Amino acid sequence: MLQRTRIRRWLVWVGVGLGMCGSVVAYQWYTRSLTNSIPPIREWFQNGATRPSLTTQTNAPCPNAPFLLPSSGLIGLLYGDPAAPYHVLRRHSGIDIFGNGTPGTVPIVAAYNGYLTREADWKSSVIIRHDDPLQVGRTIWTYYTHMADVSGTTSFVHADFPPNTREVFVEQGRLLGYQGEYGGNLRIGLHLHFSIVKSDPQGAYMNETVLANTLDPSPYLGMQLQANRLPSRPINCQNT
Ligand SMILES: [Zn+2]
Repeated sequence: MLQRTRIRRWLVWVGVGLGMCGSVVAYQWYTRSLTNSIPPIREWFQNGATRPSLTTQTNAPCPNAPFLLPSSGLIGLLYGDPAAPYHVLRRHSGIDIFGNGTPGTVPIVAAYNGYLTREADWKSSVIIRHDDPLQVGRTIWTYYTHMADVSGTTSFVHADFPPNTREVFVEQGRLLGYQGEYGGNLRIGLHLHFSIVKSDPQGAYMNETVLANTLDPSPYLGMQLQANRLPSRPINCQNT
């Protein structure tokens, strides 16, 4: 009798274990169907020889697009991407551009004319206010981050924009700083996180970590940058 109870209990645990494994596999399969960002990022970091063939180069805005891609490299994580460290309930709110270089050497430039702010406690970030070129009368923002070394002690933001900078006019293409690896407690690899942020009713920028507070950068950059469109890399201008 005791033996039978033990076997039954054991079978229940095996069932629970298999169910959990199955859920994990199903979730991974589902996430993979929504993005193709992980394989090129893995290639980028594991095999340096592949980097030139994965790189999108910044030269000029794409035809019929107002914004300049603010840095060169692999456009890895995309807009709305559920790939780790994000997931289907907390998707990536911008694009990650992985530069080919060492921390502090890969330039980042302003995507469009606007007015730059750097808050007092921002080690690695700047934000620029713009008149939306695609919707007249709307104010939007472009946000640039990870511009510091991995520990956050050395900032790679250009010396022209110290903490507490307010509303300084910058032209499209103006050097803002250099790519870094600072991501708080996360090991993120060298890249720029770039997002387009909406204004709140008072005209201030919203919390850019929330997808709903941001805009799809595809029409602004003239590139297919939505994760669920599964673009192959490198991503180039879609209308040339
Ligand atoms: Zn990012």
